[in-house]
Amino acid sequence: MKFVGLKKIVDIIKNIDNVYIVGHIMPDGDCISSVLCLAEGLKSMGKKVQGFIDWEIPENLKKLPLVNGIKKFKEGIIKPENLIVVDCSSPDRIGRFQKFIRDDVNVIVLDHHATNVYFGNINYVDANASSVAEIVYEINKMMNIKYDEKLATLNLLGILTDTGFFKYSNTTPLILHIAAELMKMGADIQKISFVINENRKVGNLYLQREAINNLKFLSRGKLGYSYLTKKDFEKYKIAENDFDGFVSEIRAVDTVEVAMFAAQYEDKKAHVSLRSKRYFDVSKIALEYGGGGHSKASGFTLIYEKSLEDALEGIAKKIGNLL
Ligand code: 5GP
Ligand code: MN
Repeated sequence: MKFVGLKKIVDIIKNIDNVYIVGHIMPDGDCISSVLCLAEGLKSMGKKVQGFIDWEIPENLKKLPLVNGIKKFKEGIIKPENLIVVDCSSPDRIGRFQKFIRDDVNVIVLDHHATNVYFGNINYVDANASSVAEIVYEINKMMNIKYDEKLATLNLLGILTDTGFFKYSNTTPLILHIAAELMKMGADIQKISFVINENRKVGNLYLQREAINNLKFLSRGKLGYSYLTKKDFEKYKIAENDFDGFVSEIRAVDTVEVAMFAAQYEDKKAHVSLRSKRYFDVSKIALEYGGGGHSKASGFTLIYEKSLEDALEGIAKKIGNLL
């Protein structure tokens, strides 16, 4: 296990001939952007590269260039010599690709989560980076990768989604500068905004209504939480993967410091998203439940026994006592 700087990671990546690049399950814009931009950069240098994600890609993101080229996990897939894992703080985040995290595979981790457990042979983790897309931009720049409109658009995607279109606390002068550079290279910010913000299935809205029905507050409104069940997703024919989420709406309530939202995706299994507004470090809670993330945005998988509502109530009370 080795922690290296950016220059060293560029030297290492430059000397690789073939590699799998793997993103996380339940992929978001940053994950997809990072897999593709690194893959395209390395391909243009004549390397053999394939991008993988062991999960369905959200339908809206499939409308962006090259996204359909990301491959899924397949049984019998050949072991790679090199594996670059992006945007994952722990190995469980790559689903079945975990089987390649072994001594005879060179595992390189590129990440921006403070909770990263350094599971690679080589780890580059910058918790101050807004996104892994920002790190990939710096790597590609140091490798003199030529950007066309498609690559610039894809690189900007991860930056926009992880900064919430430049409204979260990870929005820095540097990332605004990088975004400007990407726009100069032809990044289509309107297209990204359209795909992410103006492209909602009406079922998504109805699901938000259900989530509002389930909404509860604790600790004088400092904690807000809600959930949706698999049945809800089935009723409105929206895959859990394609739901916009509801946690940001809860955080946006004036009294709220911590927001929690759970989406059931399998029997007795839900993905829980946590957000905070000013001071509470939600990554500590996520870590306690086997997940991880950032201080203001984290998540974990919740396996519960009886009802999701009861399980959430228990967690909510615990957080509520800390507020
Ligand atoms: P979200 O709530 O949008 O799924 O995730 C928020 C943040 O927490 C993201 O940075 C994401 O990578 C991280 N995260 C979400 N779920 C998990 C999880 O189950 N394990 C870990 N380690 N991180 C997670
Ligand atoms: Mn990210």
